[in-house]
Amino acid sequence: MLSRPRHVLVTGGAGFLGSHLCTRLVHSGQRVTCVDNFSTGSPEHLSELPPEWLSVVEHDVTEPIPDPGPVDAVLHLASAASPVDYRRNGVETLRAGAAGTEHALRLALRWGARFLLASTSEVYGDPERHPQREDYRGNVDPVGPRSVYDEAKRYAEALTVAYGRERGADVALARIFNTYGPRMRADDGRMIPAFVTQALAGDPVTVAGSGEQTRSLCYVDDTVSGLLALLDSDLTGPVNIGNPHELTVRALAERVLRATGSGSPITHVPAAADDPRRRCPDISLARTALGWQPTVDLDEGLRRTTAWFAATRPERGTSASLR
Ligand code: NAD
Ligand code: UDP
Repeated sequence: MLSRPRHVLVTGGAGFLGSHLCTRLVHSGQRVTCVDNFSTGSPEHLSELPPEWLSVVEHDVTEPIPDPGPVDAVLHLASAASPVDYRRNGVETLRAGAAGTEHALRLALRWGARFLLASTSEVYGDPERHPQREDYRGNVDPVGPRSVYDEAKRYAEALTVAYGRERGADVALARIFNTYGPRMRADDGRMIPAFVTQALAGDPVTVAGSGEQTRSLCYVDDTVSGLLALLDSDLTGPVNIGNPHELTVRALAERVLRATGSGSPITHVPAAADDPRRRCPDISLARTALGWQPTVDLDEGLRRTTAWFAATRPERGTSASLR
């Protein structure tokens, strides 16, 4: 798929993860069309890519996607992803997962393109099995505060496999675990941009609840490689894409303080409602079936991320607090 020039459509391509994907695709000789409504992303992330290789279409995927002509692959990333963003725009998040996924699937089917859904570890909810393997069915509250995102993605997965089974679409499901790196919005409320901007500003670092909850962080370049390995395979999945290096949130805050050399204190703020207590991917499937595993360790990923936030800080204002 990626070994020769192709036309790839990326929904949500102006966001954090999408813009890194578009950049990697263009640099590997693919022609890319990015479809994005800029609700949480920015065309600025793509401004350095040559227009003959990248078209940016401002469009909301909850409306039918304008036909870009023949495409070989559709990567569907358009959706709010930060808990702060999706709790603020719950209905829109559900619509992006439902109507948005169907519009992207129809386009893929029309052109016989391979379709990849950017699903999430949130389909496992607050997991009762640890680490999470793809055959675990999850523990999601369908009416809880995170349900607008979790259920949108669960529906999107169901719709994607139905298009595969009933309509012959060539589909793949990636369950992406927490990914971080340059181009995250300083104020998107997620842990890494919050901790890094707070540490750089010398403000207190806001650990939610006890800080004993865990996450497993994957550097964005590794996540992009995993997604492209899945796209390039004939696997449907679902396949976990993440880094199994699990740490408590408090330990992650301490690693950010070390990476920034900051003397900021850690302060505890109220726990987020329904916050998953543990999260760690089992990536055996990705290792064996795709030959993929992460290569960037946490200290190196944090070094690159903090350098980017430090360099862009003047335009981005001061630190962002979560809640
Ligand atoms: P992001 O908010 O930076 O990017 C989302 C992009 O989608 C933005 O550019 C936004 O403007 C666009 N978008 C949102 N709704 C849209 C709509 N209706 N029409 C068109 N464009 C729309 O988030 P991200 O972290 O880059 O996440 C990208 C995708 O990856 C999401 O689908 C998310 O669920 C998935 N994902 C991300 C992570 C992570 O840790 N970053 C983890 C699991 C899954
Ligand atoms: N978190 C925190 N302080 C912040 C932002 C987040 O302690 O300023 C915690 C959050 O409560 C959760 C973890 O960090 O336990 C990861 O949150 P994030 O929003 O990055 O992603 P999630 O995995 O919850 O989708």
